Amino acid sequence: MSELLNLPTGKLQYGPYSPSRLEVATCGYAFHKQYIDPNRKKGKDRGSSLAADRGSVVHEVFERMNEQMMAGNYAFDQKVVRKWVSDAIQKYSSAYEDMEMIMECVRLYADRPVKNLPSDAQIEQKLALNSKLEECDYDSPDALIRGRADLLWFDEDLRAHILDYKTQPNIEEADTFQMGIYALVIARTFKVEEVYTTIYFARYGKYSKPHLWSKEDLARIEQILLARIETVENRVSFDPTPHNGCQYCPFRAECPVMKDNFEVNAETGLVSVIDKNVFNPHGDIYRATKLAGILIQLDELMTLGKDNLREFIKKYEQPVVSGNKAFMYKPSEEIHWDSVNKHHRMDIFRILEKHNVDGRNYSCFSNKSLTPVFLHEENKEEMLKELNEVLIRKAKTTFNCYKI
Ligand code: SF4
Repeated sequence: MSELLNLPTGKLQYGPYSPSRLEVATCGYAFHKQYIDPNRKKGKDRGSSLAADRGSVVHEVFERMNEQMMAGNYAFDQKVVRKWVSDAIQKYSSAYEDMEMIMECVRLYADRPVKNLPSDAQIEQKLALNSKLEECDYDSPDALIRGRADLLWFDEDLRAHILDYKTQPNIEEADTFQMGIYALVIARTFKVEEVYTTIYFARYGKYSKPHLWSKEDLARIEQILLARIETVENRVSFDPTPHNGCQYCPFRAECPVMKDNFEVNAETGLVSVIDKNVFNPHGDIYRATKLAGILIQLDELMTLGKDNLREFIKKYEQPVVSGNKAFMYKPSEEIHWDSVNKHHRMDIFRILEKHNVDGRNYSCFSNKSLTPVFLHEENKEEMLKELNEVLIRKAKTTFNCYKI
């Protein structure tokens, strides 16, 4: 296919690549299942389809909002926005379950939109490079790497700015490999030397710090990209490789790592380890890596099991007991800091002042901000008593495994 790449068959077998395809390639088994297996199913498990549909709905609604902002109108009509949400959910139906979160993402974006979005910004740009890393059509059979920019614009110095929306819970910097790929594709397509990437975390309404990709950075990303593609194309083993991404893997249930290492008693459901030696690496790096993989798998399964148990207990409204422990929801109380900050700030200032603590250092009070005060306060008993009188509490229920 190309002089740039070392390809075993001379042509690309598993492309076109994208940051997510390269991410899946971390595990040979998942990659094979998703992109090579002739019997592969397009279906996703419930968890991944809910997350994907939620992301698609948020992206689609933000797209509509951006179109309106590009026309200079930043005032959103709630009725219109609701229609955009409902139209998007018709297409990505499992997102219905997450309506509350979607509406919150939309509210936050309307509150904190991209400032001064130019009228010629580009929305949902689908771009691709061929094996010579030159621009080509997104659907071209020659496409080697493809990327999508949620929002793209150029400033007066011809620097490109990419904004990528994420609905995931974890916050990251805008200098990831995925962002580097987008920057590379944009730089090559539009022949610009500097690209800024920013991530917008929709569920928190937060923008990351913009990251500048220089010409040298892009040259480095290019080499990493080519090395990754060559590694995947030359792959001979499609063994499972547990890693942090296992939590999003749609093949978790059938993953051989579990089958190789654990036995599940069909009657009791108890899991036993087939080879106990696996839990002691005996100074062997291969065993240590295997053990790390198993522990990640177990961790994932624990999370999955707890989620399922939580749903069961919610539905049937009863604890599930095993031995002297029970999984259940327990009522408890927590301080309603929003309310405290709204209605009792002056009372807290007064109490702190009485105990020689300068309350003006606190923009808002919380468990975290007040803990150091308690640690250093000599009369903490008395201060706590006084604070307790003004700290409003609210009821909550906590799910956990409790001793009974
Ligand atoms: S669960 Fe992890 S190890 Fe198993 S197939 Fe999926 S990504 Fe690979």
